[in-house]
Amino acid sequence: MKAKSAILTNRPEMHRSGRTGWLRAAVLGSDDAIVSTASLMIGVAAASASKQAVLVAGVAGLVAGAMSMAVGEYVSVSSQRDAEQADIGLERHELDSEPQAELQELAMIYVKRGLEEELAMKVAEQLSAHDRLGAHMRDELGLDQASLARPLQAAWISAASFACFAMVPIAALLAAPVALRIPLIAACSLVSLTILGAFGGHLGGAPLGPAALRVTVGGTLAMAVTALIGRILGVSVG
Ligand SMILES: [Zn+2]
Repeated sequence: MKAKSAILTNRPEMHRSGRTGWLRAAVLGSDDAIVSTASLMIGVAAASASKQAVLVAGVAGLVAGAMSMAVGEYVSVSSQRDAEQADIGLERHELDSEPQAELQELAMIYVKRGLEEELAMKVAEQLSAHDRLGAHMRDELGLDQASLARPLQAAWISAASFACFAMVPIAALLAAPVALRIPLIAACSLVSLTILGAFGGHLGGAPLGPAALRVTVGGTLAMAVTALIGRILGVSVG
């Protein structure tokens, strides 16, 4: 009975961490979008460029960032998928060539998790009869069919979230009077960063304050540095 409850509590926990991992990646991509697009636009604006030039810089930053997120995610998730597929292929081969040894191996995993040997063997046999490869994937390799790496999905989700949040500083520029464009872009971006930082901390189970403060301070620094460089270049080149 004790062993049975161990299995029941184990599974939902794995699921939860898988899902937050995904969301956290999306939140990090969104931080990136706001910081890089806002910094780019503030840098150009600080060189006293026209509204149109700042807008073009923002839109170009949005497109470039979304594309590079998509490519980066696709490459990294593809290599994760290759590793998973290689593991599954090896497991499939072992199941075909040494079915008895694999059954023993599966039962041993359940013994290590706290089942009695006899019960562990029974569990291994019944799970194998139901879905042999699935049982080995889940309990031996720690792979869940539902959470296998999906490169294309990862690519479009991160590109879409980057594009969405890059719209924050662009919208601020469009709404702001010329004299206030830099402070307004910075303020809207920092407020969004603070909210996203707190949300990211919430997902990771961390305290909200420090998580929000980290991204906000980081974002402020990034914008200040690009504003300064834009200013210097605007004065020396223009
Ligand atoms: Zn196996």
